[in-house]
Amino acid sequence: MLFECDPNDGESTIKLIENLTTNASRIQQQVLDEIIARNSGTEYLKAFLHGNNTSRDLFKKRVPVVEYEQVKPYIDRIANGEPSSIVSAHPITELLTSSGTSGGQPKMMPSTAEELDRKTFLYDIQVPVVNQYVPGLDEGKGMYLYFIKPEIPTKSGLPARPVLTSYYKSPNFRNRRFNKYNIYTSPDETILCADSKQSMYCQLLCGLVQRDEVLRVGAVFASAFLRAIKFLENYWKEMCANIRTGELSSWIADETVRTAVLKIMSEPNPELAGEIEKECRLEPWEGIVKRLWPRTKYVDVIVTGSMAQYIPLLDLYSGGLPLVSTMYASSECYFGINMKPLNLPSEVSYTLLPNMAFFEFIPVEREEEAVAGECNGIGGDGDGRSPVEVVDLVDVQVGKYYELVVTTFTGLYRYRVGDILQVAGFHNAAPQFRFVHRRNVVLSVDTDKTNEGDLLNAITAAKRRLLHPLRLFLTEYTSYADTSSIPGHYVLFWEISPSTTMVDASVIEECCSVVEALLDSVYRRCRRKDRSIGPLEIRVVECGAFDALMDLCVSQGSSVNQYKTPRCVKSPEAIRLLNERVVGRFFSKKTPEWEPCRIGAM
Ligand code: AMP
Repeated sequence: MLFECDPNDGESTIKLIENLTTNASRIQQQVLDEIIARNSGTEYLKAFLHGNNTSRDLFKKRVPVVEYEQVKPYIDRIANGEPSSIVSAHPITELLTSSGTSGGQPKMMPSTAEELDRKTFLYDIQVPVVNQYVPGLDEGKGMYLYFIKPEIPTKSGLPARPVLTSYYKSPNFRNRRFNKYNIYTSPDETILCADSKQSMYCQLLCGLVQRDEVLRVGAVFASAFLRAIKFLENYWKEMCANIRTGELSSWIADETVRTAVLKIMSEPNPELAGEIEKECRLEPWEGIVKRLWPRTKYVDVIVTGSMAQYIPLLDLYSGGLPLVSTMYASSECYFGINMKPLNLPSEVSYTLLPNMAFFEFIPVEREEEAVAGECNGIGGDGDGRSPVEVVDLVDVQVGKYYELVVTTFTGLYRYRVGDILQVAGFHNAAPQFRFVHRRNVVLSVDTDKTNEGDLLNAITAAKRRLLHPLRLFLTEYTSYADTSSIPGHYVLFWEISPSTTMVDASVIEECCSVVEALLDSVYRRCRRKDRSIGPLEIRVVECGAFDALMDLCVSQGSSVNQYKTPRCVKSPEAIRLLNERVVGRFFSKKTPEWEPCRIGAM
């Protein structure tokens, strides 16, 4: 099989990667042949291939490149209990809820038991790659903060859940064989604890107790790691008290978690509690990661894409440890790994592994379409463009921009992921991609991905409901994700006319709440359940602020004729310019509703 390796044998793992990347073209062909042979009888492919196990060329000619809206009806039918064979020959075992949404609800991606093995493969090869540059990673543990999220019931009985929740609950994770590179300080019971507060407390406590063994720390995304640091700031005293007495706080109610944690704490350790207390008392918390876990060699968190906004805070808390983004993955499928883990975040690229799926690329012609340009709005490339041309993995060109299209083993065919990537170079014959941005996303603080349309709809509803009855009008708006404190929050800059009218604070506060209530379910889950996003803020700016913003954009090269107000600003100059013109700041006073709503007609 193309995705098996012995994770304890670093050398053979590296050889396998070399082999895969050297033979990228042949392996991609093999992958597509296998997908066609296996799935040509599915209802979806039959419509295009008429049930023939056809050639790769015919597949490309006949099967259209699609977006989620086109596959949604098929996936909805599976969620409602119709057979997997609609899209996949292998049984669909679960639906993975993406942080991308459709109609306010998470998109769902089909998955199979076999796909878990492919994911395991990608996890297994990562540490041996880092170990080439940071040796000795098999001589200690990793303090990783991993969490599960709620599942959504479907009529079919298949679980619908985020991809990481699926992985941690899978036998591949729970019954994993010993892997000297992947020994965690967190017992599985603490990761699998559904109560995120108990889970976080216990994982950090176990990390502190085993601090001398920790060689790397991390979480999947930078935002989650920083949330853990914030949690530690609030709870270190209680944790030290637990370590001192060897007793676990009584509010940790989950019995399996208690047993697992007490096994690690085993006995009172006043000396360790004293050492940790000494470090935590030292203000400010600069370098706290290095101080609490002195053997740590790097912080393993994704800091590319929207997570780049957290780099300054991470640098501060980690005391300048390398920030390593190891992998590029999604609910659709796992794509690839970073072969140069110690590269600076701005230089990180991911090598797409040719055995994970069949990859194609839509060239994104104009650079300004591809780059998340300040004055063009982030991800402002037109949706619904019909692709002129699609190129294979091995045919992409260095320096060019592309949108990723995948054909997976699990029932997605020529599916546009929505990520814009730039080719940074090649590892053997496999291209390496820099993640540029996600198409059309304007705001992201944690796993939320708010697009321009959803933001516009929410703002439109709020202004109609609350401003118009008062004869007030929203003349311009833009937004940015303020992550200078944890948790970050959305900020909207609003210019209201007539500017002479004094607006009651409660009106704008209510506008904040209405906007939040209308954002998609991932945003509302982050706000209500995960508490990984703070209350939304509206900053009302003085009249003329948006003219000044236009002047700034034009001075930076935007065309006056084609100027459109960016619906998201990122550059410090633009944010400063608007902040200097703020006349009032208002926050949402309500937490939006969120329910793990059922999918499919019940
Ligand atoms: P989800 O749909 O929730 O599975 O999120 C998958 C998306 O997260 C990808 O399509 C990317 O847009 C983003 N993502 C995943 N890994 C990375 C990474 N290493 N760097 C930047 N963005 C990433």
